Amino acid sequence: MKLKTRRSMQTQKLIVGEERDIVIVGGGICGLATALALHRKGIKSVVLERSETLRSTGAAIIMQPNGWRALDQLGVASKLRQTAVPILSGLHIAIESSELKDLPDVGKEELRCLKRADLIQSLADDLPADTIRFKCQVISSKLDPITSFPILQLRDGTLLKAQVVIGCDGVNSIISASILGLKSTKHFSTCVIRGFTNYEDGHEFGNKFVVVSGKDQVQLGRMPITNTLVYWFLTRKWSSRDGMISKHPELIKRSVTETMTDRHFPKEAVEMTSKSELDSLHVTEQLRYRPPLELLRRRFRKGTVTVAGDAMHAMGPFLAQGGSASLEDAVVLGRCLARNLRTKYSASSFGGIEMRALMVGNAFDEYVKERRKRAFRVSMETYLIGLMLDSSSVIVKFIAIALMRAVFRDPGGHTRYNCGRL
Ligand SMILES: Cc1cc2nc3c(=O)[nH]c(=O)nc-3n(C[C@H](O)[C@H](O)[C@H](O)COP(=O)(O)OP(=O)(O)OC[C@H]3O[C@@H](n4cnc5c(N)ncnc54)[C@H](O)[C@@H]3O)c2cc1C
Repeated sequence: MKLKTRRSMQTQKLIVGEERDIVIVGGGICGLATALALHRKGIKSVVLERSETLRSTGAAIIMQPNGWRALDQLGVASKLRQTAVPILSGLHIAIESSELKDLPDVGKEELRCLKRADLIQSLADDLPADTIRFKCQVISSKLDPITSFPILQLRDGTLLKAQVVIGCDGVNSIISASILGLKSTKHFSTCVIRGFTNYEDGHEFGNKFVVVSGKDQVQLGRMPITNTLVYWFLTRKWSSRDGMISKHPELIKRSVTETMTDRHFPKEAVEMTSKSELDSLHVTEQLRYRPPLELLRRRFRKGTVTVAGDAMHAMGPFLAQGGSASLEDAVVLGRCLARNLRTKYSASSFGGIEMRALMVGNAFDEYVKERRKRAFRVSMETYLIGLMLDSSSVIVKFIAIALMRAVFRDPGGHTRYNCGRL
């Protein structure tokens, strides 16, 4: 009872004391990076996160060169470089054809794998102390019919009025659905299992990223994080058993081992997953994505509301770009907002709140315009790879391969993007 009162007082403070603030819904990679981008530009914001603490589900994240450029702009890259070794080469092993191939582009630019907890913590550490509000779940949102400013309803019943809302609330975004009217995301039938393996005496995998492909489109990826810690992920078709095993780490481990043993994966790969840390294991049953054409057609700004990260462009993990693209969003949002809010009109008292809202709307239009093309391209490439892995139709696979060859001839092109200066 006491706790509840304290929580509603905290939210009450948000309504009364910070009505004019920018509210970011969701404290994942994108929400924290966006708050940090704004903070670096001297703009205050509040992040509402439904969890009780920082969330870092999914063990680790592959950070592509474009992601590192964004992290440099956010001012956290050098700290993160200390916790992750650079990946210098890549190898693809196809078990059925016994073919070994170097992965093109790996090692040409900065590629590292980060513990998700390290990334999230670094972003949070550089924010002012009162920025993140935990246990604040938004359950519905709408625009005020009179003022057109957003109103958020929190789980504890509080109505929160904000001047600006940025929805960074992930693949099932409430802000995307209720304010922007976007359709819910779709899903592939592939599932992914991820985890860490710790080699106390050091591993012998060097700085190499290895992908092993076996029968039935099963793939294992292995990427060192440090000299003792290795991240791995296994993709395979979803089966109805996954719902049950996902809650039991021992069963997850057994299922991974069986999947690989049945398909004659190398002994060292099976050994690696069987030695993984139980509390790092995670099954993502549904890989959600926004159909790429929606990114070209839909409106991603209404009044002073927009979305970023997976809430805008959820994509499968096949290119390992969702996180890096979310960091790019944050940099572009910070730049566009700062540029517009600093104009003489928004700074003057003339027009007051309404003028500021116009400037924010302008900033969001610039942001959406800049991000739409990039998000479409990277989502389309990811989608085509997803179709090749996911579809059981030979014709669909053929079309996906033909499109990939015609449009995405440069396999590392997506990593060369530069989101520019904050
Ligand atoms: C299996 C898998 C592997 C991946 N591997 C990679 C990779 O190697 N590299 C890469 O770059 N990307 C990868 N991705 C993609 C990457 O994880 C996402 O793109 C990234 O996490 C998106 O960040 P986000 O902040 O937009 O969303 P999220 O990380 O989902 O964060 C959303 C946050 O909002 C909170 N939230 C949600 N709803 C509400 C609400 N109503 N009220 C308040 N808070 C709310 C959630 O608790 C969460 O903290 C992978 C994804 C998957 C599924």
